[in-house]
Amino acid sequence: MRYEIGLPLSFAPMANRVLVVGWDGADWDILDPLLEAGDLPVLAGLIEGGTRGVSRSCLPSHSWAAWPTFLTGRDPGGHGVFDILEYRPGVTRRLPVSSKSILAPTWPERLSEAGRRTLLVNVPLTYPAPEIQGVAIAGGIIPTGAVYSHPAEVGSRLRWPINGGSWTTYRNRPVDLVEELEGLTQKRAEAMRTLLDAENWDAACIVFVSPDRAQHCLLEYVHPAHPAYAEASTSQVADRVRDLYRLLDAELGTLLERADDDDLVVLMSDHGHQPCTRAISMNKVLERLGFLRFGRGSALVNLLSWGRVRAVARVAYDKLGLHGRVAVPTAPIDWEHTTAYTSVVSTGEGVSVNLAGREPGGTVSSADYERVRGQIAEALLSFEDEVTGTRPIGEVLPKEDALTGPYLDRAPDLLLRPAPLYSLTHARQIVEQADWLSGDHRPEGIYAMAGPGIEGGVGPDISLADFAGLIAGGVGLEADPEWGKTETAAEPVGAYSDEEERLVEERLRGLGYLE
Ligand SMILES: [Zn+2]
Repeated sequence: MRYEIGLPLSFAPMANRVLVVGWDGADWDILDPLLEAGDLPVLAGLIEGGTRGVSRSCLPSHSWAAWPTFLTGRDPGGHGVFDILEYRPGVTRRLPVSSKSILAPTWPERLSEAGRRTLLVNVPLTYPAPEIQGVAIAGGIIPTGAVYSHPAEVGSRLRWPINGGSWTTYRNRPVDLVEELEGLTQKRAEAMRTLLDAENWDAACIVFVSPDRAQHCLLEYVHPAHPAYAEASTSQVADRVRDLYRLLDAELGTLLERADDDDLVVLMSDHGHQPCTRAISMNKVLERLGFLRFGRGSALVNLLSWGRVRAVARVAYDKLGLHGRVAVPTAPIDWEHTTAYTSVVSTGEGVSVNLAGREPGGTVSSADYERVRGQIAEALLSFEDEVTGTRPIGEVLPKEDALTGPYLDRAPDLLLRPAPLYSLTHARQIVEQADWLSGDHRPEGIYAMAGPGIEGGVGPDISLADFAGLIAGGVGLEADPEWGKTETAAEPVGAYSDEEERLVEERLRGLGYLE
């Protein structure tokens, strides 16, 4: 499960500058039919003049772990971000992660140290914005009123912050979601054009999150392997969803035309997407298997979180402008009677042992760790969806098989991959029919690139961790195998006030990362 660096050395060193455009969640299984239909002429041209291939994400593959891997060139064991929440020293509750949770140096920092200027725009988990040479506009969740760019005044000059794209807010309103995502895409591309034109840059990188947001709930319109595709893809809604990709392609064109022939240009994604029709709730699975007990009050919380009350509350939040200000509580866990819990709440891709000495209310002794972990893995793999008779959890890996680095001890003890057509999150029942959910992450992301030294045709499979070295090499920095390696583990520090923490948690819910 560990991927070797696949890039030929001839790839990078001859370029002048590097321009990277990220399409969060883009997947060839979705893009290829659009390419064949002629909907993506810019991408087609990029591939024709360069190369294309698969970029494999890390595990966990969700955006908050994956983009730090892109930035640091290290898998999550090397940068320390495994989930949208984390434990911090002396705090018993898991708190939202920020850029201060990335505990390894990033390529924009390396370039900055070497005197190179980077434009870094909307890369998830870059709030607070890094103080690099160049310009950084934070991506991900930004607290209201916070300084989100470096230098501080640049953001508002670019009419940022540009917020939105909360797909769970648009339940069963696909066209409204597409319209919002189109607006975000246009505004963010415009800001990037302004920066590319006004600033000197050696490297520039912008991430568009629209594909990810759309693919979580609208995948049946664009993914041929989704069971509902045959019918859905011929509807008018499908054409509007395809419009979003046409727009992304056109905006890609407006950015690529700002690069020269001797620049390296890259389109990439942090992970891919696969269809799902069923969803499970990992903590409820763990409860059923006897490893987790919910605390008092969880029934009421479930009602609030998932009943009609929640749906009504969401609409009211939006109307009153309260979205992000009033948090809906999550079901409490009775830690004293819990052996294992979901430690990747955003995608359900990780389970941790409630280990004494590591978890604040740990119950499992280190002497029992291996045995208990083995039992959990076995039970998870044999868990069955009674309606379909299939097993929702397709693969369970011990963390040391997927991750490496100084933060391995904090990683989820087991890493999970869903079986085909299952999502490991977003369910209110233990297992249920997917509702306003038709896609979830898979590791196989994309890259397409062109520039000096890039050979044509289909390129090798690469790892998301390879881009950091590719970009550094592209601006002429020598390969430094020691750079980015962290010998001793650092501790994450908080970036938010208490009020901001509550706000960030509610935004994460809106984005579908936290239930
Ligand atoms: Zn992503």
